[in-house]
Amino acid sequence: MNAFQKNVPDQTFETLNRHGEFTRLAVSPGIINKHYTPAQFQKIAEIAGEKGAIKYSASYSILVSIPTCDATEAVQALQEAGLYVAPSGSIIAMKACDFCDGEKMEAAPITEQLYHAIEGMKVPARVRVNINGCASACYNAVYDDIGLVYQQESFDVYLGAVPMGAKAQAGTLFAKRVDVTQIEDFLLHLINLYKEHARPNEPYYKFYRRTKSAEYWELVKNSIK
Ligand code: SF4
Repeated sequence: MNAFQKNVPDQTFETLNRHGEFTRLAVSPGIINKHYTPAQFQKIAEIAGEKGAIKYSASYSILVSIPTCDATEAVQALQEAGLYVAPSGSIIAMKACDFCDGEKMEAAPITEQLYHAIEGMKVPARVRVNINGCASACYNAVYDDIGLVYQQESFDVYLGAVPMGAKAQAGTLFAKRVDVTQIEDFLLHLINLYKEHARPNEPYYKFYRRTKSAEYWELVKNSIK
């Protein structure tokens, strides 16, 4: 019942854009928290109103499309409701698991530290850094551009994932057991190499696969020894 009731929605992001300038906002309760309150859902519905559209995405956020002229005010109202509106564009974007709904928070402080260090940095093409709080990696860190899997005060770092498409593929282990005290510098190295050596708009995985025999990757690995 209802599984295929309405396969084509009345109002999609595409149809809206044909009738004016719309802005898409990626909204979530936070990088770690995945639970919305009823009041936050009401606020999202109120902001989309009759003119906008709402859909869920594969990146742990709800996408809200609204007239561009209302965007600044909408972002402010969403933030006041305690929601996080992810920045758009060619930047470093952070993702994380929910740390078992707050039951397994060991890696939460370092996740927050890394967020302040890297989120929003400008790069040649959008890079998703995904942090998972244990070896189960149930939020698929190894399928994002830079995957960090926490275990015992350290991170395993995965690079080279093809996140989507017919050739989608998990990343491979680039460095094992990078200590939490070193991970911020390590991550900045990985990002700065991309900024320095990538071609315009080159996705992170293409850049890594094209250059992985270059000496500078070894230098990054050796920086933690
Ligand atoms: S990756 Fe580990 S810590 Fe994170 S939600 Fe999954 S099981 Fe919990």
